[in-house]
Amino acid sequence: MTQSIKLEDPRLFRQHAYIDGKWTYGDGGRDEAVTDPATGAVLGHIPLLEADQIRGAVDAAEAAFVHWRALRADERCERLLAWYDLLQAHREDLATIMTLEQGKPMPDARGEVEYGASFVRWFAEEGKRTFGETIPSHIPNAALGTLKEPVGIAALITPWNFPLAMITRKAAAALAAGCTVIVKPANETPFSALALAELAERAGIPAGVFNVVLGDPPEVSKILCAEERVKALSFTGSTRVGRLLLEQSAHTVKRVSLELGGNAPFIVGPDMDPKEAALAAVAAKFQTAGQDCLAANRILVHESIHDAFVEHFAERMAALTVGNGMQSEVDLGPLIHGQAVEKAASIVDDALSRGATLVAGDQNQAPGPNFFMPVLLTGVTPQMQVWREENFAPVAGVTAYADDDQVIEMANDTEYGLAAYVYTHDIRRIWKLLRALEFGMVSVNSVKMTGPPVPFGGVKQSGLGREGGITGIDEYLETKYYCLGAL
Ligand code: NAD
Repeated sequence: MTQSIKLEDPRLFRQHAYIDGKWTYGDGGRDEAVTDPATGAVLGHIPLLEADQIRGAVDAAEAAFVHWRALRADERCERLLAWYDLLQAHREDLATIMTLEQGKPMPDARGEVEYGASFVRWFAEEGKRTFGETIPSHIPNAALGTLKEPVGIAALITPWNFPLAMITRKAAAALAAGCTVIVKPANETPFSALALAELAERAGIPAGVFNVVLGDPPEVSKILCAEERVKALSFTGSTRVGRLLLEQSAHTVKRVSLELGGNAPFIVGPDMDPKEAALAAVAAKFQTAGQDCLAANRILVHESIHDAFVEHFAERMAALTVGNGMQSEVDLGPLIHGQAVEKAASIVDDALSRGATLVAGDQNQAPGPNFFMPVLLTGVTPQMQVWREENFAPVAGVTAYADDDQVIEMANDTEYGLAAYVYTHDIRRIWKLLRALEFGMVSVNSVKMTGPPVPFGGVKQSGLGREGGITGIDEYLETKYYCLGAL
């Protein structure tokens, strides 16, 4: 069954790769179907490119780099702002494409377009401020300083959970810095990336500057990592694949930035109103049906308010509607595919077999094969998969703790270190936790934490480097030192 896609601007729905300003078929005739996770219907097909075509994208990005880097920063800014305006103007179509291929509810998809576009605007401006330095000289009569220069071609490999924003968060910084890019989106969600390419072209971003390649993921990534002309690799995805790409990039000594998995603790202090904290925890857990690297994976609640918290959490959770993201009033869409549903079920089974209690979550209510009803487990312990792994599903696990030292130890008991949430109004506790938590981002009393002006990224096995903020553009810049002597 093929699903027809109704857009105000049908040209945004592309089913080809985009290389050197041209829409491209696969030379070998291989292709792959892309399905709507809510219905299982085929949305369209994408070509699987051959190795020479991927190298062709590198040729195009190399040729375009010469001209793109030579533009003035304000000229690059203007084109990026034009891209931003087009993203905003086509927000509804972009959201429709995203919901169909990814499954998230339309309001969330609109929010992601807004979020993704905001990085384009921010980095468009930031590209004008990639200042070098003047350095007081230790050499007689010499002038010392640094220049910031674009690193060159950047390969951007992105996941399916945020099909648009994970691209713009990288590409906007790279393009503003003067780099050219080759985007490899996830095969589950290629159409958002291709719509971005269509709009980049309309915005006057020249051929070869923004390319989208499609293919067998290990094949394509291997070529991009092995290519000496690709100077930077920015990857968002699982820690497993991130490690592999880091290894593959070692031979060409690339600049590598990795945004990997998370296993966020959500800590609730004894001073909190359990209802307020439960509402925040539900919001931090179920965004994108739990398929979010920032999702609250381990909810750690002080024993004095544990029972009241669980009661409010269950009540709020019961009010969530699960369904097709194209329908109104839906809170949680489907999971991305059947394996994700199987993994979620096995995580719940593992927890129950090790003594957790199922408070709520009846999978008989699921509206279709790729749907997973929200689950609330209590009595979760560090031996369970739901604690150890990023569950990437609407499975909430709650654990009671006795004091701050214990909760710090619990929160840090993971190989991941992306984000942590802390809910308390006690300023001494806030500072203690802020310093002790081994995470790249700590959000206190707020579910919302990310955005263009702030650094996004993790420590430990959650990654290398930062996106967003003034550090985000540095990932795409080299520092060239100069010494102007007196002779
Ligand atoms: P994934 O690692 O399976 O895939 C990510 C990308 O790598 C995709 O483009 C995919 O096609 C490609 N890929 C997959 N297998 C590959 C292989 N063997 N060799 C080369 N490339 C390969 O991740 P996913 O399932 O798409 O996304 C979920 C993961 O992404 C989660 O772990 C989540 O936490 C992480 N994530 C992190 C952030 C962040 O900013 N830290 C943001 C979103 C998602």
